[in-house]
Amino acid sequence: MVMSEIFGSMVFGDAVMRSRLPEETYREFKDCRDNDRPLPLETANVIAGAMKDWAVEKGATHFTHWFQPMTGLSAEKHDSFISPTDDGGVIMEFSGKELIKGEPDASSFPSGGLRATFEARGYTAWDPTSYAFIKDGTLCIPTAFCSYNGLALDKKTPLLRSMEAVSKQAVRLLRLFGRKTESVRPAVGPEQEYFLIDTEAFLSRRDLVYTGRTLFGARPPKGQELEDHYFGTIKPRVAAFMRDLDEELWKLGVLAKTKHNEVAPAQHELAPIYTTVNVATDQNQMTMDVMKKVANRHGLTCLLHEKPFAGVNGSGKHNNWSLVTNFGHNIFEPGKSPSDNMQFLLIMAAVIAAVDKHQDLLRISVASAGNDHRLGANEAPPAIVSMFLGDELTGILQAIADGRTYSKRAACEVELGVHVLPKFPMDTTDRNRTSPFAFTGNKFEFRMLGSAFSIADPNTVLNTVIADEFGAFADELEGAKDFKAGVEAIIRRVMKEHGRIIFNGNNYSDEWVKEAKKRGLLNLPTTMDCLALFDSPENIALFEKHGVLSAEEIRSRKDIQMENYGKLIVIEADTMLDMTERDILPAVTSYEKSVARTIEGLSAAGVDAKTHVALLTRLEKLYAKAVGSVNALRKAVSSARAAASTEECGNICRDKVIPAMNALRAVADELETITARKYWPFPTYGDLLFSVN
Ligand code: ADP
Ligand code: MG
Repeated sequence: MVMSEIFGSMVFGDAVMRSRLPEETYREFKDCRDNDRPLPLETANVIAGAMKDWAVEKGATHFTHWFQPMTGLSAEKHDSFISPTDDGGVIMEFSGKELIKGEPDASSFPSGGLRATFEARGYTAWDPTSYAFIKDGTLCIPTAFCSYNGLALDKKTPLLRSMEAVSKQAVRLLRLFGRKTESVRPAVGPEQEYFLIDTEAFLSRRDLVYTGRTLFGARPPKGQELEDHYFGTIKPRVAAFMRDLDEELWKLGVLAKTKHNEVAPAQHELAPIYTTVNVATDQNQMTMDVMKKVANRHGLTCLLHEKPFAGVNGSGKHNNWSLVTNFGHNIFEPGKSPSDNMQFLLIMAAVIAAVDKHQDLLRISVASAGNDHRLGANEAPPAIVSMFLGDELTGILQAIADGRTYSKRAACEVELGVHVLPKFPMDTTDRNRTSPFAFTGNKFEFRMLGSAFSIADPNTVLNTVIADEFGAFADELEGAKDFKAGVEAIIRRVMKEHGRIIFNGNNYSDEWVKEAKKRGLLNLPTTMDCLALFDSPENIALFEKHGVLSAEEIRSRKDIQMENYGKLIVIEADTMLDMTERDILPAVTSYEKSVARTIEGLSAAGVDAKTHVALLTRLEKLYAKAVGSVNALRKAVSSARAAASTEECGNICRDKVIPAMNALRAVADELETITARKYWPFPTYGDLLFSVN
């Protein structure tokens, strides 16, 4: 394998463009892309021709506008390049118009009321900032997706808008420090967690097939308590999958870098090297897609759900985020002496204020039915947003707030007590794995995202809230007589008004929940709780001010997310009913029959059958309880179905359906533990979690 031949071989990237486009076209393309200008049609025609020739040489026959509708997945509709000729043959054609704009029928994508079904028109528009690529013989062109009247129907459009907003405001602020910055781009590296299980086992569980998670399953004798999976030796079958996955991702230009086993059995992680946020978003969507496909090739199934198994850790996605100027400087970089770096400290103050003011939006950006199982469940950050800065940085900012001079911590070396080992300087902060939003040296790690998420929404929120804070600081400082005093005054004010958001302790502890309440921080445990706040007047004003989302777009997004929540829970509940009535109860009946026969046999032989009678009695009692739980769940589901609005449906799901599901699961799992294995109708947790060698 020659890396230079593989990496990016399926991407119409910069090097390919430079070699295949006329010099002038290439220059024009770059100029338009870098300065946010639309491309003239003649230039687009030349690029389309070159793109098509390149793709056809690579064996592609089709092209598609690849976009990210509100389902959070990627969507594609394939058209072939063929065009008929007069002599009855075909030629391969692709025009600039087809490259720039597409018109998929939008009627079956969620729009949250932005578009009535009879107004089916939707447009896709080429995003030249993300490279086209070939996937399974199809040239994929990354596009934004909007309605007939220009309202965003996707996740990319607001993200691109938020990038412009943060760039504009960051440039204003940096100029005040004498920088010549022209643009700022967010850089993101998403760490992706996932589970891998055997496909045969997967297919025998309808809960996994329909919902991506197990809705039943008693705890196996062994889970993750020995902590023997985390960073453990990778099993050969998994290693083969990972090798294949890396290669496929490299071909697509994804900088897949780190892979390791995660905490739960059968759980793993992949992290790419960070890149510009919209490219990182597209590439993370591709990564999730490729993971599933490559797994299938190995007889494995990749589960991206946030909580496939109760009792062991679920999967998240850590969003590492920084802001980089056009000169390549990361503005979250503290430098050698952070206490003397006023620009850095002011930027930190902006993040503190932004996170504290917009706890609701950050929570909303990671809300889903699946993620509700993780947040606050002692394995992931709690549903309370707070921020970890580490002792040194908190100390510096607090000193400014108190008007003290900060006494620098003496540089320490880590002493291992073994002289042959190298000494290294101690990092100024340890990591805090429990924090939802942690400063990790020169980037913030937002850890509340669910594994199945598009990273677009959380980054749209991050960019917008920081843009707003940068803008407000710039407004204030542009007129300041004494710049340094102005900066200090802002830091002092931020620490006073928003310092409550900083928490360097253990976020998993019960004390923190109490302390956070005292500090007045929001605690929004479920998706429905936080979505209710999405379209508050403050949030609408914020998004409209920075041109990221209109009031109409916000309301539609809220509606889509609520509707999605309700639909998912109803599907889960129906799956449980189906599995209980058609699999679990009949299996218990068969086992009861065999126990009853044993009792008959024992009694006929004059042997005391009381232990078997006790077993049969217990089975029957649980059977009756299960039937009762089925009826209760069915009633709850009916009331959710009959709800008058998506909001009411979601609330019924949260308050009635989910508790009824939990009750049914508890009985079924108990039945599993006393029913003979050969009668149990599907693979157990032990079979699923330890199925891959
Ligand atoms: P961890 O130990 O938490 O896994 P790593 O240092 O391995 O952290 O980085 C995790 C992710 O963060 C990777 O995707 C990496 O590329 C990304 N990352 C590193 N530095 C930055 C940065 N300055 N901005 C954004 N992402 C970054
Ligand atoms: Mg990390």
